[in-house]
Amino acid sequence: MLVMKFGGTSVGNAVRIREVAEIIRSRLPEKPVVIVSAVGGITDKLIAAAKKCAAGENSENELNEIETVHQAILSDLGLDKSLLQDELKSFREILQENRDSTFDAQQMDAVQSFGERMSVKILAAYLARTGTAAKAFPAWDIGMITNDEFGNAEPVGAAEEKIKAGLKGIKEVPIITGFIGKTADGHITTLGRGGSDYTAAIIGAALHAKEIQIWTDVDGVMSADPRIVKEAHTIDTLTFNEASELAYFGAKVLHPKTILPAMRKGIPVRVLNTYNPDSKGTVIVSKRSGNGQLVKAVSCKKNVSIYHIHSLRMLDAAGFLARIFNIFRDHKKSVDTITTSEVSVSLTVNNAEGMEPIVEELAKFAEVRFAHNRAIVCIIGEQMHENPVVPGKALTLMGRNNINVKMISQGASEINITLVMDNTDAEKAVQLLHKEFF
Ligand code: ASP
Repeated sequence: MLVMKFGGTSVGNAVRIREVAEIIRSRLPEKPVVIVSAVGGITDKLIAAAKKCAAGENSENELNEIETVHQAILSDLGLDKSLLQDELKSFREILQENRDSTFDAQQMDAVQSFGERMSVKILAAYLARTGTAAKAFPAWDIGMITNDEFGNAEPVGAAEEKIKAGLKGIKEVPIITGFIGKTADGHITTLGRGGSDYTAAIIGAALHAKEIQIWTDVDGVMSADPRIVKEAHTIDTLTFNEASELAYFGAKVLHPKTILPAMRKGIPVRVLNTYNPDSKGTVIVSKRSGNGQLVKAVSCKKNVSIYHIHSLRMLDAAGFLARIFNIFRDHKKSVDTITTSEVSVSLTVNNAEGMEPIVEELAKFAEVRFAHNRAIVCIIGEQMHENPVVPGKALTLMGRNNINVKMISQGASEINITLVMDNTDAEKAVQLLHKEFF
């Protein structure tokens, strides 16, 4: 069994939907279970319509756009014009009921559910009309039961068994809504924006799928940002740990959280391109095979801030680091990269927002220097720890090219080597490192 998830751009118009239908047909022997996002841009429009309505403004523009986009797709695909009548009518009614009053998180989830509820009906009807038996399901009908954390719901423990039972014996290709679920007492929930990948991973894990395919509009995960490195290539295989580091340090990858259910069960997740269905994409696996490449990618995250905290009191003093990081915790400020010496700590944060009171508290027992407009350049590859040459080569390269590295960090897991430098040096550094290691 194969789980295939198609994102918003993949079902963005009639041309794309025809291509998606062909891709599904080409995989029929593998028994696909299909997960679909809303038509591209529709979730934003549903939210915008609700917000306007709540503010007492006229939301007719958004409503019309939502209807027009869907009607155009129906007519281009030769489908019945009334196919989405119930959903469009219910959406109008929800808006009407809540006019001039704020939508709470629960109502917002109901509002956002309509995008996926409509896209599955379109794809299933088109597949059926063109000769492939398919059936649309709102995810709650096949067991996607969640807790009641509206806007960011999680499946409940029993969901897995329910999903397995819910999909048993279905003869047609199931076309299931991504992103949405229901609480045990029947309230609609969403799994967070972009949540269809998560739906695919949850369903794939429940079914012990052979593979979970995430179909998007790029060829997979790239070895560097192609706008910076012309020669960047698609990475064949990434481990889950590498993918997590990459996602964190700025690359456009699946959010690691969304594929965690698949990784826990050791199910590979493959990122594929609907525009280029023959390319193999990138596969993310839980364990590396041992003969992979040393360096998988070079990524960079710009505009971070760096803080150097220096205190002679740190010498031989227990609890000094705890004191520093408790201040960050109390102010709910997340720290990215850290290096320490006996008397100083250097760290980076995503941005300087909220740092003023933190610096004030740190200054009570340490000297604090900081700088903005810094960049984190990251070399990623789980196999690097078996080879001692990467850090040396990277630093020599920076030195030879006059790039001043302000901070270096290599974690115990040695999945990544992180260099912090001026924003203005980052692109050159990424180009040099990519050339060196590929
Ligand atoms: N349609 C939802 C969103 O735009 C979920 C998804 O596409 O994954 O966030």
